[in-house]
Amino acid sequence: MSGVSRRVVVLGSTGSIGVNTLDVIERHPSQFSVFALTASTNVEKMAAQCVHHKPEFAVMASEPHGRALQDVCAKEGLSTTVLWGAEALDTVASHPDADTVMAAIVGAAGLSPCIAAARSGKRLLLANKEALVVGGALFMDAVQAGGATLLPIDSEHSAIFQSLPDDTAQWPAQIDKIILTASGGPFRSRDPQTFHSITPEQACAHPNWVMGQKISVDSATMMNKALEVIEARFLFGVRPEQIEVVIHPQSVIHSMVQYVDNSVVAQLGTPDMRGPIAYGLSWPQRVTSGASAIDFSTLSSLTFEALHSNGHAQRFPGLALAWQAMAAPDGTTAVLNAANEVAVAAFLNRQIRFDQIYQVNADTMSDFIPAKPHSLPDLIALDAQARRCAQSVIARLLR
Ligand code: NDP
Repeated sequence: MSGVSRRVVVLGSTGSIGVNTLDVIERHPSQFSVFALTASTNVEKMAAQCVHHKPEFAVMASEPHGRALQDVCAKEGLSTTVLWGAEALDTVASHPDADTVMAAIVGAAGLSPCIAAARSGKRLLLANKEALVVGGALFMDAVQAGGATLLPIDSEHSAIFQSLPDDTAQWPAQIDKIILTASGGPFRSRDPQTFHSITPEQACAHPNWVMGQKISVDSATMMNKALEVIEARFLFGVRPEQIEVVIHPQSVIHSMVQYVDNSVVAQLGTPDMRGPIAYGLSWPQRVTSGASAIDFSTLSSLTFEALHSNGHAQRFPGLALAWQAMAAPDGTTAVLNAANEVAVAAFLNRQIRFDQIYQVNADTMSDFIPAKPHSLPDLIALDAQARRCAQSVIARLLR
C-alpha cells in the first residue's frame, strides 16, 4: 500500500462502524484521509468529528441538523462544506475526488448512496447489509456496470472473502458451501417461553460485540443472520441451499468456506470490527487495525451447535425467513428487510413485544407479494409499500 492514499467517504460516521472506521483511518495518516462524513441527527458527535478530521464535506439528514452543524463549523473556522438531505448522500458517495466509500448507514436509507458509489466505480466497503438485501441483483448490476470494487465489512462476509481464492472465476466450481457462524446472541440459552418479556435493554446487550441498536436487536432475534444469508448469496453468487448457519458462541471463527474436496478454510480473530474494516480499506494488502490478537493459550474451547438442536429453531424462527424470501418472487428480500426495520423500531419504542418481531416479518411477507423491481425508484417505492404493510400488520397485532 505504500504511496497509495485513499480519500474516504464515511457514510454513517457517527455510528459504531463509522467510529471504528475513523479509528483505523487515523492509524494510517499517510494511506487514508477523510474526504466526507455523514450522519442523520447527531450534530454534536458530527461536529466533534469535523473538528478532528477536517473533511471536505459533512452531510446531515435534514436542514435543521445541517444548519446547526454549519454554525459549529463556522465558529470553529472549518472549511468543511455542510450539505443535507438524501441527495447529498449520493453527491458525496459519487464525488470524483473520493475513491473509497464506507457504507455504514443503518437500514435501507443507505441504498441510494451505495448505488451511487457503485455506479461511479468506487471501492465500496459494505457494512450496510440492508442495502444489498433490498437492492439484490440490481445492486450487483450497478457494481458491475460502474466497475466498482465491492468489499464486505460484515465480519462473516469478510471472513468468507478472506477464505476464498482471489480469482473469483474459480468460486462457482470450487465452493461446496458457505458456513456462516452465529454467536446466538444474548438469548442463545434462554427459554423461548419467556421471550415475550424481553426488554429492549436486554436485547441490545450483546455478549461479544458492541454495536448499534438495530443490529443488536437483529442479533438477538437472529434476523441479522437471516440478512447475512441473503447478503452472502448476492456477494458470493452461491445458491441459497449452499449457505449454512452454525452457532459458535465464542465468535472466534468468523465464518468458513467448505470446498468441493470437503476441505474447510476458516478465518479467525477477536470480535473487533476494526479487523474487517482495516482489511477492506487496505485490501489486497494488510495494515494494523488496533484489534487485539487471539491468545490461544487462554482459549480453552471452540464450540458449535446445530440450528436444529437445543430448541434453537423455536428460539430463532426468523432465520428461516431468509430462505423463504430467496425462494419467493424478486423483491421479497426487500419486503422482509422493510418489515424487520419497522418491527425493530416498534420493539425499541416498546410498541410491540420481542417475540412479535417475527410475527410482523412473517405476516408482512405473506400479506405483500411484490412486483419485480427494475430500477432504484422501483426499489424505493417497494420499500415504502412494504413498510406501510408492516405498519398495518402491527396495528392488527395491537388490536
Ligand atoms: P449505528 O446505529 O451505530 O449507526 C448508524 C449510522 O447511520 C449513524 O451514523 C446514523 O447517524 C446514520 N443514520 C441512521 N439513519 C440514517 C438515515 N435515515 N439517513 C442517513 N444516515 C442515517 O449502526 P452500526 O454502525 O451498528 O451499523 C451500521 C451498518 O453496519 C448496519 O447496516 C449494520 O447492520 C452493519 N454492521 C454493523 C456492525 C457493528 O458491529 N456495528 C457489524 C456488521 C455490520 P446518527 O448517529 O446521526 O443517528
